[in-house]
Amino acid sequence: MEEASELIKAICKLRRNGVTEDTVNDLAEEMADMEIMLEQLKVMFYLFEGVEEWKNYKLKRLSKMVKEAMNSVSCH
Ligand SMILES: [Mg+2]
Repeated sequence: MEEASELIKAICKLRRNGVTEDTVNDLAEEMADMEIMLEQLKVMFYLFEGVEEWKNYKLKRLSKMVKEAMNSVSCH
């Protein structure tokens, strides 16, 4: 989980130092590392379909929550 730790550190550095060319570039590098690691985990544990199913479920739920929030705002 080294890559996850490095991504968290890059996010903390960005929050601490603000948005600069350096902090955004570090964030991009660590996001790339994390994406590569996640793809490796999908290969190792045959999780391509399983992850897609969870993403679809969670995106639908999020979409529903956003719609409900927008409806409640427009009613007042
Ligand atoms: Mg890294």
